[in-house]
Amino acid sequence: MKIAFIKISSHPKEFSHTKDGIELTGTLTRTRGHKVELNANMRGEIILDCDRCAKKYPYRIDTPLEFALYDKVFPLENEEDLDSMEFLDGIIDIDEIIQSEVASIESFYHVCEDCENCEELLEIEL
Ligand SMILES: [Zn+2]
Repeated sequence: MKIAFIKISSHPKEFSHTKDGIELTGTLTRTRGHKVELNANMRGEIILDCDRCAKKYPYRIDTPLEFALYDKVFPLENEEDLDSMEFLDGIIDIDEIIQSEVASIESFYHVCEDCENCEELLEIEL
């Protein structure tokens, strides 16, 4: 799903898009000339590999997302703490946002439920 930057006004535009079983629902609001804020919720399920035992297991995503989107290189004095993404061609690609969020979840250290229980036991023993 692609949305042209130019079509987004200061009035929040609602959107909902699902890619690979991950749904992103929320609003896009222009807050400045070259800046659009995304407020959304990401929901779905992905399959992760446990970093400890390498077992594949389902992981539920249900997380709020807040992004500052820019259609030009964003200024260095980025006053807010929002994560930023640039869409220099003026087209906001919702698929790309979902993909990059899923990739960042996958890159975290994560263990399956079994290993999590093991680690808790270890901590108690220590
Ligand atoms: Zn595991």
